[in-house]
Amino acid sequence: MPVQTRLKQVRPSADDMVIGPPPELPLFQGLEDESLVCSGCDQEITSGVSALTLQALFQAPGRLLFHCNCDAYGEVDCPGSPGLLTNCL
Ligand SMILES: [Zn+2]
Repeated sequence: MPVQTRLKQVRPSADDMVIGPPPELPLFQGLEDESLVCSGCDQEITSGVSALTLQALFQAPGRLLFHCNCDAYGEVDCPGSPGLLTNCL
C-alpha cells in the first residue's frame, strides 16, 4: 500500500503552474510507493505517482499546483524540503 502524501493547500498565484483534474488520466497512475491526497477533500489525486515524479514531468519553473475537483489547490512538493525544488530533482 503506497504512502499517502497530503498536499499542502495553497492560494494560487499567476506564477504557478496548475495541473489537474481529472485524476483518471494514466499520467496520474503509477506503481510508486507514494500517492498524493488532496487536503481539501481527502481524495487521492494520484495513485502510485509521487510528488517527485510530477515535478520531473512538468518541470514547473515555480510552484506546481494540483487543482482538485473540490476546487482546492494543493502544492506538489517534496517531503522534507518545502518550497525548495532544487532539492527535489
Ligand atoms: Zn480536493
